[in-house]
Amino acid sequence: MHERSQFKRKLSSFQALQFKIADMATELVAARQMVRLAASRLDAGLPQATVYCAMAKQFATDIGFRVCNEALQIHGGYGCTREYPLERFLRDSRVHQIVEGTNEIMRVIVSRRMLETDSTDHTEEIR
Ligand SMILES: Cc1cc2nc3c(=O)[nH]c(=O)nc-3n(C[C@H](O)[C@H](O)[C@H](O)COP(=O)(O)OP(=O)(O)OC[C@H]3O[C@@H](n4cnc5c(N)ncnc54)[C@H](O)[C@@H]3O)c2cc1C
Repeated sequence: MHERSQFKRKLSSFQALQFKIADMATELVAARQMVRLAASRLDAGLPQATVYCAMAKQFATDIGFRVCNEALQIHGGYGCTREYPLERFLRDSRVHQIVEGTNEIMRVIVSRRMLETDSTDHTEEIR
């Protein structure tokens, strides 16, 4: 963004793209936090660890793909060429929404838990 100019301005001066960068950075931090939270629940051997892990897997891989996709968009046409690594990052991150249990199945795990009809308030439990 500091290198490429369009309309006689650096890309980095366009606020729409600045906001995109801000969202990407924020989402990456949130995804890392989700993964670390799930890992801590797993290390502690808590019964809710499975649900936390399903949430973290789905969230982090969806965000990972989204961030790569936005990064490719910022690179414009160059993003689709092999001159830059973005096209590979996009393909590599996409597969993680499928492998090790698809993200639909992660949602199945979470929703099953939330809809269990015992006396536990699961929304409270997973905070
Ligand atoms: C690069 C790569 C590497 C892999 N490596 C391994 C490996 O090392 N070991 C291994 O065992 N496997 C491996 N796999 C397989 C991978 O785990 C499966 O592809 C994955 O679990 C999805 O299964 P499937 O392809 O049979 O899709 P399917 O189960 O046929 O699902 C197709 C689509 O339907 C959706 N779907 C299915 N059931 C439901 C449902 N109940 N509710 C909502 N949506 C549903 C899925 O989410 C998906 O979007 C690999 C796959 C890839 C692409």
